[in-house]
Amino acid sequence: MNDAREMRTTCPYCGVGCGILARRQADGTVAVRGDPEHPANFGRLCSKGAALGETVDLEGRLLYPEIRGQRVDWDRALEAVSDGFRRVIDEHGPEAVAFYVSGQLLTEDYYVANKLMKGFIGSANIDTNSRLCMSSSVTGHKRAFGEDVVPGHYGDLEQAELVVLAGSNLAWCHPVLYQRIRAARAGHDRHKLVVIDPRRTASCDDADLHLPLAPGTDTVLFNGLLVHLHDHDQIRPDFLEDHTRGYWAAVREAREVAPNIPTVARRCGLTEEQVAGFYRLYTATDRTVTVWSQGVNQSSFGSDKVNAIINCHLATGRIGRPGMGPFSVTGQPNAMGGREVGGLASMLAAHMDFEPEARERVGRFWQAPNLVSGPGLKAVELFEAIEAGTVKAVWIMATNPVVSLPDADRAREALARCPLVVVSDLVADTDTLRLAHIRLPALGWGEKDGTVTNSERRISRQRAFLEAPGQARPDWWIVTQVARRLGFGAAFPYERVEQVFREHAALSAFENAGRRAFDIGALTDLDDAGYRDLAPIQWPLPAGSAQGRERLYGAGGFNTPDRRARFVAVGERRPAHVPEACFPLVLNTGRVRDHWHTLTRTGKSPRLSAHVPEPYGELHPADALARGVEHDQLIAITSRWGEVIVRARVSDEQRPGSVFVPMHWGAVHSATGRIDGVVNPVTDPLSGQPESKHTPVRVAPWRPTWQGFLLSRRPLELNDEAGSVLTYRVTVRGRAHWRYELAGEGEREALHRWLRERCPQQGSLEWIDYLDRAAGRYRGAALVEGELLYCAFVAPDHRLPPRSWLGELFERDALALEERRSLLMGRPGRGQCDQGPTVCACFGVGSHTLVAAIREQGLNSPEAVGEVLKAGTNCGSCVPEIRRLIQGRDAA
Ligand code: SF4
Repeated sequence: MNDAREMRTTCPYCGVGCGILARRQADGTVAVRGDPEHPANFGRLCSKGAALGETVDLEGRLLYPEIRGQRVDWDRALEAVSDGFRRVIDEHGPEAVAFYVSGQLLTEDYYVANKLMKGFIGSANIDTNSRLCMSSSVTGHKRAFGEDVVPGHYGDLEQAELVVLAGSNLAWCHPVLYQRIRAARAGHDRHKLVVIDPRRTASCDDADLHLPLAPGTDTVLFNGLLVHLHDHDQIRPDFLEDHTRGYWAAVREAREVAPNIPTVARRCGLTEEQVAGFYRLYTATDRTVTVWSQGVNQSSFGSDKVNAIINCHLATGRIGRPGMGPFSVTGQPNAMGGREVGGLASMLAAHMDFEPEARERVGRFWQAPNLVSGPGLKAVELFEAIEAGTVKAVWIMATNPVVSLPDADRAREALARCPLVVVSDLVADTDTLRLAHIRLPALGWGEKDGTVTNSERRISRQRAFLEAPGQARPDWWIVTQVARRLGFGAAFPYERVEQVFREHAALSAFENAGRRAFDIGALTDLDDAGYRDLAPIQWPLPAGSAQGRERLYGAGGFNTPDRRARFVAVGERRPAHVPEACFPLVLNTGRVRDHWHTLTRTGKSPRLSAHVPEPYGELHPADALARGVEHDQLIAITSRWGEVIVRARVSDEQRPGSVFVPMHWGAVHSATGRIDGVVNPVTDPLSGQPESKHTPVRVAPWRPTWQGFLLSRRPLELNDEAGSVLTYRVTVRGRAHWRYELAGEGEREALHRWLRERCPQQGSLEWIDYLDRAAGRYRGAALVEGELLYCAFVAPDHRLPPRSWLGELFERDALALEERRSLLMGRPGRGQCDQGPTVCACFGVGSHTLVAAIREQGLNSPEAVGEVLKAGTNCGSCVPEIRRLIQGRDAA
């Protein structure tokens, strides 16, 4: 690998697909910056992308194949996988095996896995974690357009005069797109932003209108909009006439549900003025883009929500023209690539389904002996089949379903009972890997080579700039080796990733003739150098074209048999489970700004972990008061499916009757914070997407005997050694230390006694501590030659010293007398300051520092704060939080 050269690659986190310039430096660290030439980000990065260099070390990596915990060579591991699968297939048929894959895979990995399962093993039981985040959009697109196509491109967000964010906290989940919208809006009063979300999120910071609608009422709001557009002559009759079908039925059905603004307002829990304000903005300009993501998709009627949104765009002809269009943004970096190859159980390949003609075509192209006849098991069904014992061998690639599936405890039990669980991953410890019989080490970002497709249909290269560590291998290589051992070598001749890509491109163009928009035939003949240097490019890209198309469908030409789009009549729809006396609140799950999925990568970065270190449950003050819950207290959140214990946040940004919990924490990082164990497993019957935004729960204070935290210079195995005394445990990576948030129901002195035992008097080790037995308070520290090794604080409740100040003491070579004294006092001494929780991850600026500067220097804008503290001046992801501090909305 070339150490000196910057490598052009793509961010592995969200579906924005930002271009990155990455370079390994002389000291072995990795420097990254935004690629100024990449059309997704033009040089911008968010906090997660900017911290990528901190996540690529080999600590915690899975580097060698293992069978039942024993290191083996690749030959043995691959034989074990292929023997295991062959045995199950021979005895029980192909439907008894499955792959569960991921939007983290590169397109080439996805292609090989899909081909093996659907063409050669002969089962469609390959589904992906993308099922959990965007399959309702796939269904919605296919029903409306005839194909799973996002019609616009990111430039439309800037050219729009109205951007509607529906169920999307873009500011935290797709921050670079949010920054692009903000920049386009700056100084242009005509560019309006509406946010539709039960929560007041960071995306509302800059909004002209926020509609905090009741959970699950999106279809009422958009049906009402369709009726309003019709009744106020805002439709495009020529577009309806020439390019669509089904308009009248859709309007009729919408009117049943949402006949007028007062009804919409009442049903959505909004004021009439809020609803009228939205409809006014929508009718004021044609240049409208509606962006949605998981808030719409993750529902038992997510597909209908998607079509209710698309109906309004079709009625007004606002599609495929500058500044207009329905715009689904994907959560994962390559959810789109997975859709393109057919990596969902409900698709065959290359945007073809299971109709006889497509099956015959794909079978011929692949020369497939066992082409599958119909759809396979979708994610939730797949784990139910594992639980029922009908699926007996599963290969999980690059995902952690024991944390991310709904009713996750049941998924864990299912895997625990499954006769053969194979997991390919880059890390050595996840909740899912703990249940694997065979572990296969895969390459990570910076090591692997291939392509990804972002939310605007743009294919970009991920390029390797780091050597493959240990015996880790690309996923496409691992699947290829297993395919050969299963006897399918002739169809899996791949030695290099370029060969896979060319075949994938060729299949997209095979007997296409313009029928399928997904056509990248122009890349079929790409030579190796062309693949190496491939610049970001959008599809459709049929043979002979040099450039992809930015927009589709502006002049019709949809991908249905008659080239007309379809309205979908959306009637009365309600969430599957509604609040009841024992479970009166609605649980909503989602992401936080600086973490990604199940913390396998962002959890390694101290500055990312400092923003939200612990899982939390956010409640409205009225709901908190009614339950005797205080801010920062530990609470139990319970549903019919499970329970978590998390830290309470009390905030009027939460809608009364709702509670929000982030989805990132599993057992590896938090003993009690795995929220998907609480989430109901009901799915959309069309898309199979789970209802992760709507589970009835109850919330109550959880009062352990003691609470505390422990900071340690080295990582500790608290799981095994102290598991009996710790009920609550969260592990946080800090700079120069590890932080453990702890609580237990046993005797109060268990933690410090355990700590003393673990840290015996030896050499120059010195203990300083303070114990108030009557009050149940303990403060202690262990030092070696003045350097802090551990410090621990225990109290009867959550009132404990600030952590950020104590964490900084681990960066000193030796503690001064004043610092030792303040340690025992449990508060910063003279000349020491507590920054508070991190707000700006790029420059490590905490909330206390920000509030002090805002107050003392009269700073009244994020720009003024940036000038003084630099906070918010790099990626800009923290600007909404800085603005809230200026407005006094957030307590420091
Ligand atoms: Fe990565 Fe952030 Fe860009 Fe998403 S917005 S691709 S997480 S840098």
